[in-house]
Amino acid sequence: MTQTARGDVEIQSATSAESSMFESIDPRTGEVVGHHPIHTAAEVDDAVAAARAAQEAWAELGFSGRKQRLDQWRKLLAKRVDELAGLICAETGKPLDDAKLELVLVIDHLHWAATNAEKVLKRRKVSSGFLMSNHAATVEYLPFGVIGVIGPWNYPAFTPMGSIAYALAAGNAVVFKPSELTPGVGQWLADSFAEAVPEHPVFRLVTGFGETGAALCRSGVNKVAFTGSTATGKRVMASCAENLVPVLVECGGKDALIVDADADLAAAADAAVWGAMSNAGQTCIGVERVYVVDAVADRFVEMITERAGKLRPGGEPGANFGPITMPSQVDVIRRHIDDALERGGRALVGGEHSVRPPFVEPVVLTDVPEDSLAVTEETFGPTIVVRRVRDVDEAVARTNSTRYGLGATVFSRARGAELARRLRSGMVAVNSVVAFAGVPSLPFGGVGDSGFGRIHGADGLREFTRPQSVTRLRYRIPLNPMSFGRSKGTIRRMVRLVKLVRGR
Ligand code: NDP
Repeated sequence: MTQTARGDVEIQSATSAESSMFESIDPRTGEVVGHHPIHTAAEVDDAVAAARAAQEAWAELGFSGRKQRLDQWRKLLAKRVDELAGLICAETGKPLDDAKLELVLVIDHLHWAATNAEKVLKRRKVSSGFLMSNHAATVEYLPFGVIGVIGPWNYPAFTPMGSIAYALAAGNAVVFKPSELTPGVGQWLADSFAEAVPEHPVFRLVTGFGETGAALCRSGVNKVAFTGSTATGKRVMASCAENLVPVLVECGGKDALIVDADADLAAAADAAVWGAMSNAGQTCIGVERVYVVDAVADRFVEMITERAGKLRPGGEPGANFGPITMPSQVDVIRRHIDDALERGGRALVGGEHSVRPPFVEPVVLTDVPEDSLAVTEETFGPTIVVRRVRDVDEAVARTNSTRYGLGATVFSRARGAELARRLRSGMVAVNSVVAFAGVPSLPFGGVGDSGFGRIHGADGLREFTRPQSVTRLRYRIPLNPMSFGRSKGTIRRMVRLVKLVRGR
């Protein structure tokens, strides 16, 4: 494999003869969208080696040099939004406007990462403290080297770019393994980077199935940023553990929306329905549960039922949401609905008959036991479970009784911030839904089965760096305890000093 301006493209053309290929499919029609190589472990290793060879020059560009190049890439993305949105649409089946919305966020995040990397990561002085006051102390956030990014299919540009943009801005090279369902989007991103920044082939692509992702974990990358399901996240961690490769794990969720008695009910109903049904519910931070206080529950349920009942899935322009992108997810959704109904739940909108692969119509469930699959497991479909609660304290307790802890939503006029703080989740939107994903300076990630580590914001930049601490002796003092030549009284004097200053 040779390294050229078009980086990943060269990897593919050089290896496609040897690799077997796989197809990416339009889930709306079953039509083939593209053919992509199944990269072997040896080819993944080659891609990582090539990325590593390019990384040093990228790091040496410094923050302003990288910003200039990432800005070029951003402008190209902005110019060709329609083209990439069309491809997202073809590989996921989501409506074109939803694909465009995803790209609007991508472009803004790329801008933020490139603009803020210097401020967050550059070398800075810190206090050298009481014992070492004769030393100067600095900390600097240096790139790891090569980051392996493994992405899902549901937001095939926005989700991986939360790692890719920030890792590149921090001075790393990236080898990206997109989902087998959306390899064309990954290819487009890598090609566009190579076009905008031809002299630095630091963003490379490998494609294939889970084995290609596992090979990336074992390829000698310096860190892996994984986004996907909790089950796969555990497998990724196990592969990375073999070589003590650090991992960032962004997994699924079972996010709840709380409706307080003083909430703007129309806004809450609108947010609940959009949060649950947009992208056919295939959103890690989608709303899957609603806890509404008794006092306003009847009106709220009426509003949500009316809104959800009007939505129609489809592949044609004007449809509210598209198909279930991953065919096997249809069975999960069906199982959750059936289990809820068998266990006494009621469907206010839709029901068993709503599952019509590849589409699922909106389903609003209520009276569902809290230990049902529809309440405990990630459904990832256009379904929502609404439950009445006595008060917001019960809502908070129920929201928190999940293994997951990704996002959450609170609708309350008076107590939004207070309730948000009591939730065991990485992110909370008050009086709107998923707003935090669109704020580039906010870290994004979860706790528990939703994973750990953060993309986005200053924390997201630091995720792709290793802090390096440096001290520099400014002047010598008579008390030097770190020498075999120290006098007998040195430690005695130091103990006296520390008792005097720190012992009170
Ligand atoms: P998967 O876990 O099935 O796959 C994620 C990625 O991991 C894919 O690229 C997949 O490749 C790859 N992979 C599969 N097996 C392995 C392995 N053994 N080693 C390394 N990589 C592997 O998730 P989905 O693609 O189905 O995405 C949906 C999930 O992602 C949901 O649970 C959703 O909640 C979560 N998600 C989380 C987000 C967050 O930020 N927290 C954001 C978006 C989604 P392949 O596709 O080729 O099998």
